[in-house]
Amino acid sequence: MESVRYLIVGAGITGLATAAFLRDDDYLVLEADREIGGYCKTIKRAGFVWDYSGHFFHFKHPEIESWLRARMAGQEVRVIHKRSYISYGGRLIDFPFQKNIHQLPQDEFIDCLHDLYFARAGQGEPPPERNFKEMLYARFGRSIAEKFLIPYNEKLYACDLGTLDKDAMGRFFPHADLADIIRNMRAPDNKSYNSTFSYPEGGAIEYIKALASEVRSGGIALEEPLIGVDLARHVARTPKREIKFQRLVSSAPFDKLAKLTGVTHDAAVFNWNKVLVFNLGFDKKGPRAPHWIYYPDRARSFYRVGFYDNIFDSDRLSLYVELGYPRDGRVDERAALARVLDDLRAEGVITDHELVAHHSVVMDPAYVHITRASIAEHARLKSILNADGVHPVGRYGGWTYCSIEDNIVEAKALLAGLNDLAE
Ligand SMILES: Cc1cc2nc3c(=O)[nH]c(=O)nc-3n(C[C@H](O)[C@H](O)[C@H](O)COP(=O)(O)OP(=O)(O)OC[C@H]3O[C@@H](n4cnc5c(N)ncnc54)[C@H](O)[C@@H]3O)c2cc1C
Repeated sequence: MESVRYLIVGAGITGLATAAFLRDDDYLVLEADREIGGYCKTIKRAGFVWDYSGHFFHFKHPEIESWLRARMAGQEVRVIHKRSYISYGGRLIDFPFQKNIHQLPQDEFIDCLHDLYFARAGQGEPPPERNFKEMLYARFGRSIAEKFLIPYNEKLYACDLGTLDKDAMGRFFPHADLADIIRNMRAPDNKSYNSTFSYPEGGAIEYIKALASEVRSGGIALEEPLIGVDLARHVARTPKREIKFQRLVSSAPFDKLAKLTGVTHDAAVFNWNKVLVFNLGFDKKGPRAPHWIYYPDRARSFYRVGFYDNIFDSDRLSLYVELGYPRDGRVDERAALARVLDDLRAEGVITDHELVAHHSVVMDPAYVHITRASIAEHARLKSILNADGVHPVGRYGGWTYCSIEDNIVEAKALLAGLNDLAE
């Protein structure tokens, strides 16, 4: 039987980063798909460059960015100051909503300010924050919650927000207190974790290629999924062979890994949404300002639309459009596309534009539903699996909300903890 020190599952950012930063070459990456990249794949069609929805890079670790850039010779990478808006009541207001309520019509502004103030200035016990929905009401008051935060996040997560943990979005949620909100009325400061982002002209796949350039030749087995793990024997099974491993690092969705290892677990605690992404290329330019726009209006099918053409200042409108579905929701792509085009017209994003090219993909899972139960069950199972040399990692292995850079940081930290990080 073949044997490797490290068997890595998934050739997305996490799996490739693990292989690239490993101290030696005694590893194999198993990838179910026929291409590398996971969710960081890029599609090029009729002169348009698209990803699986916008995949922008927000680097907090300059050494990671420069490591990648050193392996992207010839690529133009733009650093962009984000311009993001919310479509609300026929106007565009700056994101985040809670810090820009002064841009609303006066009566709605007063409602938001009033409810925000009294949410925080109540007598006695502060309101409960047992879940994400309660956190929104408790911290922002009814009007901000019901005008934007709840409808927008319900469209995205496609679930009752009362089921999610109050920190389900972690550092990605733009928190602001009363003082921040009032201060913003005079001196706008809408900075967030993604105030600037970088993006290569060749799309997100360029970062994947940079990581893959450090993977040994023959180190990736494509179209070879992991289909079973014998924890006691440290043996993994694929449709083609059995492979003995010392450590198995898996970026596969955690619910699937748990099933493959046969460890006793509560599958019902792992839920998620899926996101249907349309990439749409038109014959001429559209709105010039936005990089992306959020749509809380339940009458619109999408929750967010991004404008690739405003990143590289190209002369034809190039969009990604995101629609959230429950994990078991039926996706009818033809009907959804017709509706998306109608909704884009109703929002004034397109007028008499002609659709020149399009592409679609369903990201499943897209946003995992982080709940108290999922956090506890993941932690319990992770420690059982770790004891057997199995390490779930990445956005889906970790059953979390994180960025691409976080995936690289996590892969390096895992290897450092195992004394296997390359010098
Ligand atoms: C809508 C959306 C937008 C996003 N936008 C951004 C953004 O702008 N910026 C940002 O930093 N992050 C963004 N992210 C997050 C980013 O996509 C992830 O953090 C990152 O792609 C996760 O990489 P990964 O390698 O952990 O997982 P994946 O990319 O999912 O890769 C896992 C790989 O494992 C393979 N696999 C699965 N099961 C098996 C198996 N049994 N055997 C073998 N292979 C298997 C899969 O085929 C896949 O290739 C976004 C996510 C979503 C859903």
